[in-house]
Amino acid sequence: MDLGPSLPFLSALVALLVGLAVGKAWERYKLRDGKWIDRRRARESHHYVLGLNFLVSNQIDLAIEELSQAARVDADALEIHLILGNVHRERGQVARAIQVHQALLQRPKLTRIEHAYILLCLGLDFKRGGFVDRALEAFNEVVRMDPDNQYALLYLQKLHEEQHQWAEAHRIRKQLVALSGPDTQPRNQAILGFLENALGTEAMAVGDRGRASKHFESAIDQDADTTPAYLNLGDVRLAQGDLQGAEAAWDSLITRSPERAYLAFDRLEQLYEQLGAPRRFEERCLRLVAANPQDWRARLALGRHLLKRERHAEAFEFLLAALEQNPHGLTVHQAVWGVLLKLELNRALVQRYIESARSSVFFLDPHVCLKCHYRSTELLWQCPHCHEWNTFVEERIAPAKEATVEM
Ligand SMILES: [Zn+2]
Repeated sequence: MDLGPSLPFLSALVALLVGLAVGKAWERYKLRDGKWIDRRRARESHHYVLGLNFLVSNQIDLAIEELSQAARVDADALEIHLILGNVHRERGQVARAIQVHQALLQRPKLTRIEHAYILLCLGLDFKRGGFVDRALEAFNEVVRMDPDNQYALLYLQKLHEEQHQWAEAHRIRKQLVALSGPDTQPRNQAILGFLENALGTEAMAVGDRGRASKHFESAIDQDADTTPAYLNLGDVRLAQGDLQGAEAAWDSLITRSPERAYLAFDRLEQLYEQLGAPRRFEERCLRLVAANPQDWRARLALGRHLLKRERHAEAFEFLLAALEQNPHGLTVHQAVWGVLLKLELNRALVQRYIESARSSVFFLDPHVCLKCHYRSTELLWQCPHCHEWNTFVEERIAPAKEATVEM
């Protein structure tokens, strides 16, 4: 799959930047300390510059060769060794990377910042090698030495997330939030919201409904776009027998993000059934359609709902309208066929369905460029976007593994 700039390239850049940051910190320290060692010797050697150039152009072998030469010119140059170790790691030579970084740790008279950065790189080696505990240990040690180290905090958060240790991930994210500027606030809020939601789900799984709903509520407070928190909050309240509360939670989801309202449809339909007021589901769908004429999901839900209530002719109209908005939707076609069967293949209606489908873009051939994912309605021999030759294939939707056919 094409993910834009290649991942190895990005990792190489990250390796480079971490190395340069260390270089900078180191240089500052040396100057402040008043002990000026001529570090420019290695920096100014053409090997160093060439090595960095090869690194950014992703010619890793050549980069290693030049950087190794530069390291020989000035054996003390910490950042060059750090970068070299990082490059080994990014090439998958984890043992080699660990070896290089551990050797650096043995150096006498390391400053606190140097020590912390070497540990950070070592932590990344362990993480890459799958040694989760040792990576955690290294990153925690970095934070002890340098509490504001955002790299270490971020990697700690990710490691805890990977292991579903949501409380730890959440605590660390809060530390990061305190360290970051106001421009990153919205993104931070979103992440904290999802971590709160994960904490709620975890509480739900052990049957602690009180704690779960507190987490879901604070996820929504944190960021009103934490969509799953509304769904989960409603589920908890329903499980507690609080039907009104459940409705209120799903209601706020629909008010906040009408384009995601459909996620609450099944829940609301069941709830109104339970309340003995199925009519309210109908009204709700109609309101959504009125607010957004392109809303095919509300029409589909309403069509299915009416079909269950044997109101076939009405169901057909809503489903056909849904099809006009989303002719590619196989679920919509299936629902239409369901109604048509119930109506014993009423000739006039089948005719309308066929005409509607014929006039829609559904029958245009979808083709896609394998290289850059550019879409075209016809087969092209050269991609107008990435200019590659013969990269178009017909796009097919993969069959669903556990498809449920609702009729
Ligand atoms: Zn292309």
